[in-house]
Amino acid sequence: MAENDIQRTVLKEYTDNPEYYTRKMTKLISLMKESKFITIYTGAGISTAASIPDIRGEHGLETKQTPLVVLGLKEQDLDCIYPTYTHCAITELVDRGVVKFVATSNHDGLHQKSGLSDEYIADVFGNVFVEKCLKCKMLWKRSVVVPSLGRKCDDTNCRGRLQKTGTRMGETTPEEPLNRAWEIAKKSDLAIVIGSSLTVSPFCQLPFLAKQTVILNLQDTSYDNNSVLNIHCYCDTAMRDICKAYSIEISQFKMIRKFCLYTDVTNDRYSILVTGDASNEPSGVVSAVEIEYETAGGKILKEMDSNLKGDFVMELDNIACGMSIVFVFVFREHFDSKPLKESVILQEGNVRREFEFVKNIIY
Ligand SMILES: [Zn+2]
Repeated sequence: MAENDIQRTVLKEYTDNPEYYTRKMTKLISLMKESKFITIYTGAGISTAASIPDIRGEHGLETKQTPLVVLGLKEQDLDCIYPTYTHCAITELVDRGVVKFVATSNHDGLHQKSGLSDEYIADVFGNVFVEKCLKCKMLWKRSVVVPSLGRKCDDTNCRGRLQKTGTRMGETTPEEPLNRAWEIAKKSDLAIVIGSSLTVSPFCQLPFLAKQTVILNLQDTSYDNNSVLNIHCYCDTAMRDICKAYSIEISQFKMIRKFCLYTDVTNDRYSILVTGDASNEPSGVVSAVEIEYETAGGKILKEMDSNLKGDFVMELDNIACGMSIVFVFVFREHFDSKPLKESVILQEGNVRREFEFVKNIIY
């Protein structure tokens, strides 16, 4: 990327002065209350509070590195982020029927993590938590970022090759979510853009299919003349004011991620596996598993091996049923959570035990 190109993508971020902001928000809320069919269009700016770097802002990624490389790297971290206040507020507005539909240029899956049902959202650039079977065309939704290689369809009669749906810059966008968003956008009487600089086509065209459009963003956009209102503010600030107008209170988000431990005895050997709670997906929250048990020769401490799929595996000899093994599940660094220590009594056969990782996010 040439120096000039880098400069060109740096967009100044600023917020309106408080008085101007308040006047514009009052206008937005009255437009919302008059509207019958509100649609929302979200971009990277709504996820910045969730620690995903914005793509085009002053501190954004595109200013320093090529987005293709950066998005590839960031994908691995998307397992460990949680919805922002704005995601939760949008979900609540949809649940109450105030907002009819959401289209997003983000592929981070945070709208769905906040509880927004698939029926009300179009991931215009795909979603790193969804993979598609190239043979039967079925979409499979996962609770962890889809692993890259060697994935096969869950349907045992199909076993077609699975492909990630999260697209990177320069890749072709999936047709279905765009077509759906396009049809719904045309019915809209008020489109609200939140945290998007509207630079990526065809996403940037969607909000202007509505009768009128409002843009909430920290930077100016090339479409500012096409909108009835441009509000320069942080997404969470504006969403708090919108929620207040609708008497919506959001104080926390409880994130629950399940993972499973399987112990299996065959031919006097124990196989241990730590994986996700659904078939065909690894546990995205666990970064290491340590085990501790007593033998005649003394205390044994081991760390389980991780495989390419992202599971943790181990085979143990000289183990008897009824023995107790202490498992220490270490969670990924980004969660900033203490390890979970669980004592397990080994039993005959294949035994599945389910555990939960719970984090309360206070807004
Ligand atoms: Zn299939």
